[in-house]
Amino acid sequence: TDTLEWVLADEAATLACGVRLAALLQPGMTVFLDGDLGAGKTTLTRGILRGFGHAGRVKSPTYALVEPYAFDTFTVYHFDLYRFADPDEWVDAGFRELFRDDSICLIEWPEKAGALLPAPDLTARLLPDGDGRTLSLTAHSAKGMQCLNRL
Ligand code: ADP
Ligand code: MG
Repeated sequence: TDTLEWVLADEAATLACGVRLAALLQPGMTVFLDGDLGAGKTTLTRGILRGFGHAGRVKSPTYALVEPYAFDTFTVYHFDLYRFADPDEWVDAGFRELFRDDSICLIEWPEKAGALLPAPDLTARLLPDGDGRTLSLTAHSAKGMQCLNRL
């Protein structure tokens, strides 16, 4: 199957799921984070970054649109495109060049940039589920499938 689902009962479960995901993500991958405001997209990102060994803060990059996190052999770029309005800004800011073999791009609100974005390897969709969340992870590429198969 190309989709897996989890019930995440609380914030700690979302963080733990992110940590598990980090162990499987490879440089060069792009992950779209889908879900409404408050769904848990930034929390999942925080878990992923924690999994990679980031001990510091993870701020929501709403105003800067993207926040970089440098690790030894790769960089994670956390995008939040909620306030993205101008396609020219995408080009002018050189965002396209952040999608590299040695980067992992995690993108909140990818639909705001539409066709400017490369296709994702994985989509993580978060939905409210009682007091918790449901996460569905869908693979769109061979690399994405590899991740799901190892989870
Ligand atoms: P988003 O980035 O999608 O807008 P956030 O990651 O900022 O959402 O999370 C919004 C709130 O949801 C936070 O208060 C966070 O603690 C909470 N949250 C995250 N995961 C869960 C979960 N599995 N169950 C309940 N609350 C959660
Ligand atoms: Mg967010």
